[in-house]
Amino acid sequence: MSARILDGTAVAALVRTEVADRVDVLAGRGKSVGLATVLVGDDPASRLYVDSKRRAAEEAGIRAFDHSLPAGAALGDVERLIDRLNESGSVDGILVQLPLPPGLDEAVVLGSIDPSKDADGLHPTNLGMLVMDRPGVAPATPTGILTLLDHYGIPTDGAMVVVVGRSLLVGRPLAILLGLKGRDATVALAHSHTPDLAALTRQADILVAAAGRPGLIGAHHVKPGATVVDVGINQAGEGLIGDVDFEAVAEVAGAITPVPGGVGPMTIASLLENTVAAAERRITGRH
Ligand code: NAD
Repeated sequence: MSARILDGTAVAALVRTEVADRVDVLAGRGKSVGLATVLVGDDPASRLYVDSKRRAAEEAGIRAFDHSLPAGAALGDVERLIDRLNESGSVDGILVQLPLPPGLDEAVVLGSIDPSKDADGLHPTNLGMLVMDRPGVAPATPTGILTLLDHYGIPTDGAMVVVVGRSLLVGRPLAILLGLKGRDATVALAHSHTPDLAALTRQADILVAAAGRPGLIGAHHVKPGATVVDVGINQAGEGLIGDVDFEAVAEVAGAITPVPGGVGPMTIASLLENTVAAAERRITGRH
């Protein structure tokens, strides 16, 4: 293997230490920081993700409030819960674990969160601010990816970036962020209708795989020396694998994120950053 490993676990630990320091400063001013998680349904993977987010929050000194609703919950039930959390003085960040069970409109549910408490940065107002390049809450996974690239000194300015997957959660906001002034990447957003994916991805200095398709990206998709960021989390037997054939691609790439231990921990770190930033805004009265 020749590629450098971009260690999301280690970088996330640094971010989480900074978050814990900020939480301490707020505690010194009499302000506790709270994150409410909302899980609808009983999907075991979602339960695991929510639990690890709550654990990470508590390790950083953030109070974690766990809210679960049954899979058959009506939209009104979810909205009533979110309304209560919007009003609660103890809650600074609200996270709704996605995906929601079929029948619940994610856009409507995400839109019912107070944008100033939107820990995942997926509220339409925050996504709109992102498109307009104005201050707002940044989407957690894309921000975590950029923090990881920054930590390892991998420049986006002038880079050709190919993002594979155009979801609201990852691909689309990441493509927008990368194209903003200050990031200055040239971005292509690939998806399931992209013809000849390999011909496109081989042009990338930075290739981001966020399709949820195990093994989608092989060595022939990668330009020698490129940075490969694997967002995918796919269940494989007992373990988790990404969208990238790690062993093969690590022989060609210059740098690569592992799964697990790459983007996943960075997403959680960004979520905690968004939560403490929301608490800081509330105490200073800036919204
Ligand atoms: P999604 O299903 O909403 O979107 C997948 C996207 O991939 C779609 O735009 C689709 O067009 C594209 N796609 C599917 N098959 C393709 C193919 N063969 N070629 C090109 N494009 C293809 O998924 P999502 O919510 O964005 O999640 C993607 C993956 O990332 C999943 O494995 C998910 O578990 C993972 N994820 C990880 C994190 C993290 O923190 N590491 C966060 C969010 C999502």
